[in-house]
Amino acid sequence: MFQVNKNYLKLPGSYLFSTIAKKVNAYTEANTDRTIIRLGIGDVTQPIAPAIIKAMHEAVDEMGNAATFHGYAPDLGYAFLREEIAKQDYQARGCEISADEIFVSDGAKCDCGNIQEIFAADSKIAVCDPVYPVYVDSNVMAGRTGEYDEESGTWSNVIYMPCTAENQFVPELPKETPDLIYLCIPNNPTGTTLTREQLKIWVDYANRVGAVILYDAAYEAYITEENVPHSIYEIEGARTCAIEFRSYSKNAGFTGVRLGFTVVPKDLKCGDVTVHSLWARRHGTKFNGAPYVTQKAAMAVYSQEGKAEIKEQVAYYMRNAKAIYDGLKEAGYQVYGAVNSPYAWLKVPEGMTSWDFFDYLLEEANVVGTPGSGFGPSGEGYFRLTGFGTYENTVMAVERMKALKK
Ligand code: PLP
Repeated sequence: MFQVNKNYLKLPGSYLFSTIAKKVNAYTEANTDRTIIRLGIGDVTQPIAPAIIKAMHEAVDEMGNAATFHGYAPDLGYAFLREEIAKQDYQARGCEISADEIFVSDGAKCDCGNIQEIFAADSKIAVCDPVYPVYVDSNVMAGRTGEYDEESGTWSNVIYMPCTAENQFVPELPKETPDLIYLCIPNNPTGTTLTREQLKIWVDYANRVGAVILYDAAYEAYITEENVPHSIYEIEGARTCAIEFRSYSKNAGFTGVRLGFTVVPKDLKCGDVTVHSLWARRHGTKFNGAPYVTQKAAMAVYSQEGKAEIKEQVAYYMRNAKAIYDGLKEAGYQVYGAVNSPYAWLKVPEGMTSWDFFDYLLEEANVVGTPGSGFGPSGEGYFRLTGFGTYENTVMAVERMKALKK
């Protein structure tokens, strides 16, 4: 009899967002007169910017003409896009990254999930807690994480780096040396970041102990503070220890279009072996290139018009995040994030768990958010609200939450 990958069976419970959806559906069925405001899932809501749509239309037309038709794209991405990325996202910020160190893909989730397979099976991983669940789950599937402890919500072979209000959401260097360190900056779900100086400590540490930093910068476009780096390669020494993931989902609304990229510097080596060569091999074997139409769409992200349009969209979401942050502060909540991120992270009232607060907010204010405990054990006692809704709904949700406090 065939056997399945038993590591999959270790994955605990049902997925966070499906549990939320079930609870919300049950509530709406029982209360058809209520209007629910959803500030839970991290999906964008604004339509794709006109300059990008125009580029996509043109690319679609090219596909319908024998002279300009495109078949399989190069595995690693079209040169036109890789060059633009290197120039605009990196060299313009003083980062020494070249086009051939960029791997275009269909999004950051796949890359963040797949990257672990080019490292040794017994690699020890370290993650911020709370964090985007893909890093831990993809390592569970690969059999690296040991056993799950229901009570503490932790894996025996994962190094957790708590990020809470007590340490200003800045992870401490781990006592036990990891091989792979996942950093998500700006962080999902806490919305917090690291300054240049704080990130430099991690780069120096990784170089010293021989670890790789897997740096997820999916929310880079939301950074507003000067001293927060947009890329880890702004930090000296990162070329020998860091891989960076980027996405067009949150800066340009590509959550349904699908495009992202990963940067693997050629200086990142294990002895004589470059990690770049392994990722190129993996990409070439398991990925058949992102669509031409989508890569052309991404080119428009870098055009003058495109840049102006997406800047406006990011500003729209940030206005929402600020409305949440300011409104809830005024109502007496402890709120974090929302300055360099579309996510506001709040402390739930004393005596409640994250899920208690979820139910309370759903029932009393008809507002849906995400319980912090779904992002890791240190997320317990916190709650995430996102700026990805409409401004009107966001303001209404904040008003409802303020009214609850009265
Ligand atoms: N990384 C983080 C931290 C995210 O929060 C998300 C999506 O929510 C992703 C990656 C996924 O990005 P993509 O849509 O490019 O797969």
